[in-house]
Amino acid sequence: MPDTTDKPRCSMRIFDMWHGRTCVKSGTVQFQGKWYCAQHNPEAVAARHKARDAKWEAASVARQKVRAREAAVQKFCAGVPTEELERFVRVGRPLSTMLAEAHL
Ligand SMILES: [Zn+2]
Repeated sequence: MPDTTDKPRCSMRIFDMWHGRTCVKSGTVQFQGKWYCAQHNPEAVAARHKARDAKWEAASVARQKVRAREAAVQKFCAGVPTEELERFVRVGRPLSTMLAEAHL
């Protein structure tokens, strides 16, 4: 139920597919002469977007690392049958140890 007192109202315009309306919440923060509710406070919105972008960027970097590793493994193992790779996995020793022992 919207607050009907004379408290300041949030200035944010909200649009759905067909209509636009003004947010019904009370204004709690003033920004550049307009009132906003906590949800639509432009500084809070910018902070949420910045946090979201940082999260996406971190996820993108992580995906890039996974792709780089997969590409390196693919290149390193080129020509080795999968069954042979699985045999090494079953041995359960790190590849780095086996390579060191092979005196490559
Ligand atoms: Zn609002």
